[in-house]
Amino acid sequence: MSPQKTPLFPSRLPKVGTTIFTVMSALAAEHHAINLGQGFPDFPCDRKLIEEVNAAMLADRNQYPPMIGITELRNGISKKIERIYNHHYDPDAEITVTAGGTQGILTAILACVSPGDEVIIIEPAYDSYRPSIELAGGKTVAISLEVVRDESGQVASYEIPWDNLKKAINSNTRLIIINTPHNPTGMIWSKADLDQLADLVRDTSALILSDEVYEHMVYDGAKHHSVASHPELAARSFLISSFGKTYHVTGWKVGYVAAPPALTKEFRKVHQFNVFTVNTPMQYGLACYLSNAEHYLNLPAFYQAKRDFFKAGLDKTKFKLLPTPGTYFQCVDYSALDIPQAKFNEADFCKWLTTEIGVAAIPVSAFYEQSTESGVIRFCFAKQEQTLSQALQRLQTL
Ligand code: GLN
Repeated sequence: MSPQKTPLFPSRLPKVGTTIFTVMSALAAEHHAINLGQGFPDFPCDRKLIEEVNAAMLADRNQYPPMIGITELRNGISKKIERIYNHHYDPDAEITVTAGGTQGILTAILACVSPGDEVIIIEPAYDSYRPSIELAGGKTVAISLEVVRDESGQVASYEIPWDNLKKAINSNTRLIIINTPHNPTGMIWSKADLDQLADLVRDTSALILSDEVYEHMVYDGAKHHSVASHPELAARSFLISSFGKTYHVTGWKVGYVAAPPALTKEFRKVHQFNVFTVNTPMQYGLACYLSNAEHYLNLPAFYQAKRDFFKAGLDKTKFKLLPTPGTYFQCVDYSALDIPQAKFNEADFCKWLTTEIGVAAIPVSAFYEQSTESGVIRFCFAKQEQTLSQALQRLQTL
């Protein structure tokens, strides 16, 4: 042991441990379980995308790109958003390339939340929101999605808690974070939901952060309703998206934030000292790849087939399936399984499922600050059919 002492200091995030996604992936690896926990594809991305990145590297595009992202990529993002959401973001003044969605979220929060400001989140909520607000010195005001139960008491669906949201908004509300398609529940916001949100914030100074990283994963013919498609909301929103999710390259950590000029100006002040910029060759590769709209327009059909395959297998179990209109997550209620473990809390159930049955999942309770047990866990179906089959074989023994 070194005789030198490291000075003690107060933690900036005293309540935060290691994120559940890392914990469950490590447990899955240790027990050789099939990892349907952390959300990432187990299949390769398109070779063409890799070739484009390689070509950029070989063409010596390896120095710092512009702080806000390369022009080609910002132009491509702007075109894509205009094409599908009918809103023009100026690529120079309104679009910034980020090191993934999570950095975009943290940077947006640091850019607009001052100590004492209130930020509303709707739980279950992605686990980076709350610590990001705390780092900015903001106060998290958490409300919960309404849990709708069926006659037998099992969770049937989730709904936006409009009354509570209305009550939570006041003159200290700096930001409201929404997430559609929603991780972990898979629910999606409708056009009417966006209208209702616009009604609630119209006479306030609240900004919106809309986490839309699963924007291209909506099923059964449904449409994703982006804040970009709603001019009134777009004027006060940071829109967050992720190429990792869309192009099956979660490890590349490239995403973007689109926001009106006044928001983008402040965003970039933080971004430049947060990551400065995002790696060059990936940006060139993504810019080429993005120019072919089919690469994202095909995604709903691609993932719907996986969702349906996984659902059909789960239908043979006693898990109760929740609706999955969007995302690559399938939530299930395990409370009616005919085994003693059905009484476990969600975290213990997931641990047991990983170590004893060999399938890792994520407890939905991890998306709440205060322990909230609904008997619901989340599986990721962004996997090869073979992986899903193997997992289903194991789950069907329950
Ligand atoms: N968003 C992914 C999920 O919900 C995980 C991201 C991460 O591990 N940081 O599983």
